[in-house]
Amino acid sequence: MRDFSGDHQALSINTATVRKQARLDQIIDACARRDIRMICPWRDQVHAVGLGGIAAQLRAAGIELSGYCRGGFFPAADDAGLTAALEDNRRAIDEAAALGSPCLVLVVGSLPGALTGKAAYKDIQVARAQVLDGIEATLQHARQAKLPLAIEPLHPMQAAERACVNTLEQALDICDALDPEKSGALGVAVDVYHVWWDPKLAAQIARAGRERLFAFHVCDWLLGTRDLLNDRGMMGDGIIELQKIRGWLEAAGYRGPAEVEIFSEDWWARPLDDVLTTCIERHRSVV
Ligand code: ZN
Repeated sequence: MRDFSGDHQALSINTATVRKQARLDQIIDACARRDIRMICPWRDQVHAVGLGGIAAQLRAAGIELSGYCRGGFFPAADDAGLTAALEDNRRAIDEAAALGSPCLVLVVGSLPGALTGKAAYKDIQVARAQVLDGIEATLQHARQAKLPLAIEPLHPMQAAERACVNTLEQALDICDALDPEKSGALGVAVDVYHVWWDPKLAAQIARAGRERLFAFHVCDWLLGTRDLLNDRGMMGDGIIELQKIRGWLEAAGYRGPAEVEIFSEDWWARPLDDVLTTCIERHRSVV
């Protein structure tokens, strides 16, 4: 297993971690000052500054992407909605390619409308079928753009609103169905917050292998979690065995970064510099 204690070469910052403190261009500058060499930005953060400007800034700073957030949200109540989702995913792929991202992270979606409080239908099997169709259609464009898709399974507490793919096994079943040859075009993002509890986690990481392991997201699960979305913990503050899980990924051949992704009102309330400094410390000591 790689030794992270001496430096932070393998650290990536998912820029949602500090999205309330600064614009993306300011976040990139702050990362560059700390020799953080990788980030994973969100589309809205890129759009707020401008794609061309961000691409140029990243090149000048020598900062690479560990991923791009995010595509997905395929299910819809009607054909127009399904088509709009596919068009949006094609745009996300093109943006990711323009930024030199190694993959586009997919949060696949679930019951349409649920995110804003009113589900257009309740049949999660319909949503899962629409997700499969959506990824299959999007995969064609992804192959042409040479931009791999990384399916991120989400914790089942988010199965209604955000993702009807809730385990690594489910995500890998989709990969095997749509890309049986393991071409490198379709894989998974393993986010410890979503999968740490899964009794099949070790076996499914081994099943994925390096051909399917595109991203590794870290944070922690706090005891006494107060919010299902925005109360993630800093690595080391909760109960996730981060090094054990990283060991499983590395045993399967993963050599990519550990990407810090923390949605937390607590951490959003702290100064940008403090958050980045803490991320570096914890990356070295507990990831
Ligand atoms: Zn994630």
